[in-house]
Amino acid sequence: MTLDFSGKHAVVTGASRGIGEAIVRQLDAAGARVALVARSADRLESIAAELTNDPLVVVADLSTHESIDQISTAVLEAFGGLDVLVNNAAVERNQPASKVTGEAIDETLFVNLRQAFMLCSAFAKPLFSSNGSIVNITSTAATGAGGTQGAYAASKGGLNTLTKNLANEWANKGVRVNGVAPGLVDTEMWEPTFDALGEDAVRTSFVKRVPLARWGTADEIANVACFLASEQASYVTGQTIRVDGGMTNI
Ligand code: NAP
Repeated sequence: MTLDFSGKHAVVTGASRGIGEAIVRQLDAAGARVALVARSADRLESIAAELTNDPLVVVADLSTHESIDQISTAVLEAFGGLDVLVNNAAVERNQPASKVTGEAIDETLFVNLRQAFMLCSAFAKPLFSSNGSIVNITSTAATGAGGTQGAYAASKGGLNTLTKNLANEWANKGVRVNGVAPGLVDTEMWEPTFDALGEDAVRTSFVKRVPLARWGTADEIANVACFLASEQASYVTGQTIRVDGGMTNI
């Protein structure tokens, strides 16, 4: 199956590394013109320099209220419309619940959930016009089983629920809304955990939970995200697909 995004316009948040970068590269390779959103200007520019379909770089901090207007204005001025929105940016601040700070809870829920919702809303009209598609990157942490991840797990559980709700609300607008819930994926998101607990120990002990007995790659998440965003998934909406090597099979 070859995905074709020729003539389509996409926004990917958290595009400066990891899973977001992989989604950007796959969308671009399939013909989409992509807007790359994150805070790290240098990283965004160097990824954009390797793309082929005249990408747009939008340096924005999703922890600020004004970033929503900033992103939607820049994208709609450059693209004139939108076909695909991928809400991928997230923060993960691992804190035991007995020591969690209000600031960490606020930032996590704000960036991971509120701003994803706000971007859906900001791009609603152009997505209605194009019969477009939204993909939210959630997490298997939404099951709540991860420990010391209360705010992060709650933000991703909220995103799963938002995915279903928007899918129903916007089905009659021709907009599909789906999610991808990664399990263990080898990205920089794990660096604080590696630093705290030791990389070898984390890699070996965490993988014991995975029936496929290995960590996933960013491209393996991007494969499913791009499928859900594409016309090949035209009869799929309101679904969050777990891509976790079987870790949460029950
Ligand atoms: P990552 O390497 O930490 O990348 C996170 C991305 O989000 C970066 O591009 C970062 O860009 C961006 N970001 C963070 N805060 C931002 C802010 N305030 N404003 C704008 N952009 C911001 O993480 P990843 O592993 O690729 O994760 C991508 C998605 O997959 C996330 O939604 C994550 O929750 C989910 N996920 C990952 C795993 C895993 O094992 N890796 C598992 C489950 C779910 P800047 O720092 O440049 O702003």
